[in-house]
Amino acid sequence: MSKRDYYDVLGVSKGASADEIKKAYRGKAKELHPDRNKDNPDAEALFKDVNEAYEVLKDAEKKAAYDRFGHAAFEGGMGGGQRPGGGFGSGDFSSAFSDVFEDLFGDFMGGQRGGGGRRAARGSDLRYNLRVTLEEAFSGLQKTINVPTAVACSACEGTGAEGGVEPTTCPTCSGMGKVRAQQGFFTVERTCPTCSGLGQIIKNPCKSCRGQGRVEKDRALSVNIPAGVETGTRIRLAGEGEAGMRGGPPGDLYIFVEVAKHDLFERDGVNLYCRVPVSMAKAALGGAIEVPTIDGGRGRVQVPAGSQSGRQMRLRSKGMPALRGGGIGDMFIELAVETPVNLTSKQKELLREFDELSEDNNPETKSFFSSVKSFWDGMKG
Ligand SMILES: [Zn+2]
Ligand SMILES: [Zn+2]
Repeated sequence: MSKRDYYDVLGVSKGASADEIKKAYRGKAKELHPDRNKDNPDAEALFKDVNEAYEVLKDAEKKAAYDRFGHAAFEGGMGGGQRPGGGFGSGDFSSAFSDVFEDLFGDFMGGQRGGGGRRAARGSDLRYNLRVTLEEAFSGLQKTINVPTAVACSACEGTGAEGGVEPTTCPTCSGMGKVRAQQGFFTVERTCPTCSGLGQIIKNPCKSCRGQGRVEKDRALSVNIPAGVETGTRIRLAGEGEAGMRGGPPGDLYIFVEVAKHDLFERDGVNLYCRVPVSMAKAALGGAIEVPTIDGGRGRVQVPAGSQSGRQMRLRSKGMPALRGGGIGDMFIELAVETPVNLTSKQKELLREFDELSEDNNPETKSFFSSVKSFWDGMKG
């Protein structure tokens, strides 16, 4: 199940101003209002979508989050803050399977919708921001993260009822979780005040969890981060989010990966780029240079005689692994020819002598000045 883009829902472009968004919303809301569309069964769902889209796009902060993360921005209770990983908490320790996926919000919404009146029973999805080094992204890693979350209450086995007595159907809403009320011309549907939308009530709430069926707890979770992750990779740990209310199904935990910048390597997909300075003499004469590789080793590349600055050489299969086992990228060495500085008088003397002998060795210089000459000649005529 995929969710429509909020801008599409309102029929505005991404660059729309707050006023344009407001105007588009008013138009759509009027057009789709359920009271005007008694014969159109789809209108109600569309009307809800329009309201939902406007709720987000009218708020600068929410809009910015949506622009960045899409619908995923509004799932999970941990917010966007970076949390430190590592270290074992006093909580449970469990190992989780991770699956990397692309269609994020298809999965996100799957558990949230379709539950009818009982939707509140499912635990929230959690988001965890994990920063890794490029070396860790290269090799993959096992990481223990501490997740402050809600877990099923052990005293009542998650039921929320003292002594594990089964909850009963809510008399106010007959288990629907929602009540309808007439307000003038409108029929409004709202969450049942008696059961808070759960559809069930508990006569004797559990004292440990005050009838919630879950308690706050820090959980240490061992997570497998596969080799090849990039900034923006999301990893889902199914069922590792918040525990549901009163035995409801747990939410999922989403790990948002960020790969830190590296001092030596720049990454572009599976390929790595490394800028290596070489001396003017080595670039002119040619020779082997030693370069670092991301696996911690070293590679040797041959600099051809007469190399100019910016020349690239490729070291095959020394790049990053592809996330889904699609092979490994290459590393590109880019030469940066360095003009020597702080010359001694001996070096200066040698370079002057060298320069006098070099007139015919600088084809680029020669062709540049010949172009300059014909340019000036052209200006005269
Ligand atoms: Zn309890
Ligand atoms: Zn109720």
